[in-house]
Amino acid sequence: MRPDTLDLLRCPYCGGRLDLVDSLFHRRDGDAIRDGILGCQCCTFAVVDGIPVLHLQPESTAARDHVQAGRVDLARRAMFGIDDAALAEAFEAVAASPTATFRETVDALGENFEGGYFLYRFSDPTFVVADAVVRAVGSTVLGPSRRAIDICGGSGHLTRSLIPLTAAPPLLADLYFAKLWLARRFTAPGCEPVCCDGNAPMPFARGAFSFAMCVDAFMYIWTKRQLVGEMARLVGNAGDAAVLIGHTHNERTWSPSHGQALPPEGYAALFETMTPRLFAEANLFADVVAGGPLDLSRRDSPEALDADPALTIVASAHPGVFTRHPIEADLAASGEFRLNPLYAAEPSGDRLILRLRFPSDDYAQEYGASRRYLPEEVTIDRAALAAVERGGPAAGECADLIRRKVIVDLPKRYY
Ligand SMILES: [Zn+2]
Repeated sequence: MRPDTLDLLRCPYCGGRLDLVDSLFHRRDGDAIRDGILGCQCCTFAVVDGIPVLHLQPESTAARDHVQAGRVDLARRAMFGIDDAALAEAFEAVAASPTATFRETVDALGENFEGGYFLYRFSDPTFVVADAVVRAVGSTVLGPSRRAIDICGGSGHLTRSLIPLTAAPPLLADLYFAKLWLARRFTAPGCEPVCCDGNAPMPFARGAFSFAMCVDAFMYIWTKRQLVGEMARLVGNAGDAAVLIGHTHNERTWSPSHGQALPPEGYAALFETMTPRLFAEANLFADVVAGGPLDLSRRDSPEALDADPALTIVASAHPGVFTRHPIEADLAASGEFRLNPLYAAEPSGDRLILRLRFPSDDYAQEYGASRRYLPEEVTIDRAALAAVERGGPAAGECADLIRRKVIVDLPKRYY
């Protein structure tokens, strides 16, 4: 954990500043804190493997005791939730390997994130809309060094979208330590993870951020009013900042993994100090499928909002936010370009025939709208694909397939 991250942290319970307790066991990497104990006026918290653990669930108090005793290995096992010694050793071998992939590491944890669908995350319709909204709003309100936070951001797939928008490392907050650890290692290298509870006050200073977002998770938060109040506090209610709640389900229209959804006016009423705008996700999706612009100047009708299974909510007084934003596919990979794993490839002379294959009926039901941009069948020159996968410049048919998500920019060593 970087020292400038420590400056932003506040105790979720007393609101006090947190400082490293020098008299107790700690380890540093340069000026970053790797393991140790943080203290405020009411409480102490552990830093485990560079991740501050700012909640008081049973595993975190166990980890704190282990760190205090100098047993950082046991603290890490407690946070990963591995109590079997053989499993722990197998995982630690994978974690120590510089060539292990995201997928191998998840498998070694015995986890099955998102039913294994994380492999396809970067081309699913929910992600492509959220990614476009995050880039549009984030690039508007983040300057060269202003900060963003991804709340309940899981293993950091959208935190990654924030990284090119500012030189300040984005913060990633989530309850699940393993996801944060994977995000920093694979999905969003350079982010600063913080383990905390979205149903508790956020452990950060007022006005620490210019952009606070919570995407594809808000409907699972029970204390919705508190979290929106906290997001407004984190951006200091500043006129040039923004709060984004992306892909939250609609109480009026059923969707898979529905959660505790609210109706549109219920979401709007959560914002007491900012004025939100609600968008029907289907309209934003149509913008993305058309290649842009993403029209945040639109005013969706109450009927359109009521009928959409998912809503996107943006609150900001920045004049550049509620405008039309161009969408430009990045033709330089931030990770590495790979053939989308939804495609089965069959050689045919110098070319590959690519056929769309959904992994299951459940996947097809939840994410089948990706057919609007993913072609059923397409071919590509084998040498051109190989060159782009090696990091060569993307042009011609490869650039077109990057725009259509047939070729995706995956984190390095993803699977
Ligand atoms: Zn405290």
